[in-house]
Amino acid sequence: MLKKLVNQANLDIRITPLDPLLIRSGQPTVGGVDMSFVRTYRFGDRAQPYIPGSSLKGVLRSYAEKICRSLRDQPVPVCLPYLKPDDAADGETGQASCGLRLEKYKKDHTVKMIATNQVYRLSCPICRLFGSHNFMGRLATADAYLADPPAVLEIRDGVAIDRHTGGAAPGAKYDLEVLTRGSFTTTVEIKNFERWQLGLLALVLRDMEDELVRLGFGKSRGLGRVRAEICRFQLVSYNAGLAGLSGLAGRCSQEEIDAYGLFPETPAPEAPLPEPQRDFLRFTYDITAGWRQVLEPAVADLVTYVSQVPWPQDLDEFVRRGGPA
Ligand SMILES: [Zn+2]
Repeated sequence: MLKKLVNQANLDIRITPLDPLLIRSGQPTVGGVDMSFVRTYRFGDRAQPYIPGSSLKGVLRSYAEKICRSLRDQPVPVCLPYLKPDDAADGETGQASCGLRLEKYKKDHTVKMIATNQVYRLSCPICRLFGSHNFMGRLATADAYLADPPAVLEIRDGVAIDRHTGGAAPGAKYDLEVLTRGSFTTTVEIKNFERWQLGLLALVLRDMEDELVRLGFGKSRGLGRVRAEICRFQLVSYNAGLAGLSGLAGRCSQEEIDAYGLFPETPAPEAPLPEPQRDFLRFTYDITAGWRQVLEPAVADLVTYVSQVPWPQDLDEFVRRGGPA
């Protein structure tokens, strides 16, 4: 993305499980449990349960994907991140992974590299924010570590959990290690955001606050419902203050807007921000208290952007034409 850092969103989030939670470990298990909770050595020598940042990012990504799909039917506005270009089954046409399509393009045309601005311009809304095989994406999630109160872990019978939700439970009996009490804290960061991206994040966070998002194993069996609390939400603008809520398009030249295919911000009658805290060339806007209202113009951008995004036609064209126009 742009070589200079223009803006950044910083969030602290607290995640509290409301149902038993199991983030599975890929490692051999402790004490013969079939599925144990993933742990890490953070302080000292006692392994502590945690939620890897990559798992959190995966959940945010698939939830955001669902939101985008609900905003436009045809063509579907986002890719399926694992779908190879030639593997599309019925109903998946035009949804092959942005990253894999560009990889294939490079192979077919013996091209070493595609410029970052091109990759960004040709990527679907989700890959623009979360990244793909070709670039990192803007959003990063840190590992979530335990905070107070102390965590409680229990071993549950996997079959019993099925019975608990009323489903039939054929098959072998197995044990699960679930977290039944505790809280995790983590940070989420978006560097160089477009305004619509804050809108997408806002919709995901709203549903996380409203207890609609599930994490980890057994989502369909009554596991993993969590409540998120946004403890800090700051927008930082570098080198210039903002007149109102705006993202990259509000700060970049027309040339940069065209090069990256940035979505122009829809004129909003009012997009007020609180007074910034100024630290030399850094302007920090704390929107923790009223973020749902502050980000309304960003949600409006998202709705327009996703309904109009030229993806996947522009990617089709790029691949067919064999390069930029
Ligand atoms: Zn994509």
